[in-house]
Amino acid sequence: MKTLPVRSMLCALLFCAAGARAQTMRPEAERKLAHDIYKEFVEIQSGYMTGATTPVAEAAAARLRAAGFPDSDIFVGGANPRKANLVVRYHGSGGRKPILLLAHTDVVEAKREDWSTDPFQFIEKDGYYYGRGTGDDKAQAAVWIANLIQYRKEGFQPDRDIIVALTADEEGGGPFNGVDWLLKNRRDLIDAEFALNEGGWGEEAGGKKISNDVQVSEKYVINFRFEVRNKGGHSSLPVADNAIYHLAGALERLSRFGFPLKTNEVTAAYFKQMAGIEAGAVSGDMAKVAEGSQEAMQRVAAASPAWNATLRTTCVATLLEGGHALNALPQLAAANVNCRVLPEDSVEYVKGALEQVVADDQVAVTMTGHPSKGPGSPLRPDVLQAIRQVTDRLWPGVPAVPIMVMGATDGNYLRLAGIPTYGVQGFFMDRNDIRFHGRDERLGVQSFYEAQTFLYELVKTLSKAGN
Ligand SMILES: [Zn+2]
Repeated sequence: MKTLPVRSMLCALLFCAAGARAQTMRPEAERKLAHDIYKEFVEIQSGYMTGATTPVAEAAAARLRAAGFPDSDIFVGGANPRKANLVVRYHGSGGRKPILLLAHTDVVEAKREDWSTDPFQFIEKDGYYYGRGTGDDKAQAAVWIANLIQYRKEGFQPDRDIIVALTADEEGGGPFNGVDWLLKNRRDLIDAEFALNEGGWGEEAGGKKISNDVQVSEKYVINFRFEVRNKGGHSSLPVADNAIYHLAGALERLSRFGFPLKTNEVTAAYFKQMAGIEAGAVSGDMAKVAEGSQEAMQRVAAASPAWNATLRTTCVATLLEGGHALNALPQLAAANVNCRVLPEDSVEYVKGALEQVVADDQVAVTMTGHPSKGPGSPLRPDVLQAIRQVTDRLWPGVPAVPIMVMGATDGNYLRLAGIPTYGVQGFFMDRNDIRFHGRDERLGVQSFYEAQTFLYELVKTLSKAGN
């Protein structure tokens, strides 16, 4: 019996560790492929205003061709020569309707001077991959392609077609949005029973995994322009009626305003589930939030920007313009105010609330663009069960939690078109350090490879007979 401790020590040192790694990480060759595709994607400048997604689509197509995918299963095209999308189909037995795996390939603009590294260089540092798009959304794009190549390599036979679509212009919306274009022009390519997309990721706090979130509904976006026009004049003869001061006052009032705190079906269920996961006072507060307590909502909203945004519609100033000369009174001062609206709040309600906050008839409040508000996805037991199963296999004890997300995604177009869409990625991130759209965007190295495994297994589970 003396050998037992030695053996269990050996096991602890070698086999168990190796076993654990085998569960949460794909073999090295697969990790390397995912890494190389990820790096290639991040280093392509696909900023939605100044960049192009076509090189990303072409890079993915080249990888797929090299892995033996026939040209007839690969489509590259879109609304504009610079804004191509890639769609690839991996054929299954046709037993069930296809599953669509979606990721967008455009990114929010990033200025070198704002970052501590070059945003379009893929840099590994201190356990993270840095670069624009490392989180939003090129990691998922790279993983979809790498895993599809692996399925083919190992001869996996799904009972439904697996379609991967890497699409343009999610970030800015607008005329070249790839999902919108594909739905209108080539729906046959992406028609599916349901889709998996960005929008849900793993929540981590203090290095501990809290939940693997599944996005089933989302806030919608409205942009408002606050605009003040004034006759102006010479700056040596200032008067109180000044366009910049009117605007500044309106924005200052906006900064102190908060929309009412409330829950809906999805967020109440979310807080109820999180109450069982969180520790300390916040856990009790979350249970009370689920029951509708205003006091608890206030404390929870104050504790985290993400919970605040879950509990209310938010509007924030994002762009400013104004004045025309150093020595002239401004004739124009304007701001863009970006609102993220709860599905149950109407456009008219939000506009009315803003006008009340502004409380200045010199400040015109007008909506820019067209908000599109889609339905939530049904909580399909087959999809949620598969997500729960694979989550628990990889990260025992971590629950998969359906959520409404604060940001908007292309899932909205798909839901409007009748394709239920679930935002699920398995990328775990510190929930108070989400850097999407911000400076020094990054994703944990370990997190990337674990999600590769998660998505590899999830898609297999969802496309194998008997599930
Ligand atoms: Zn995104």
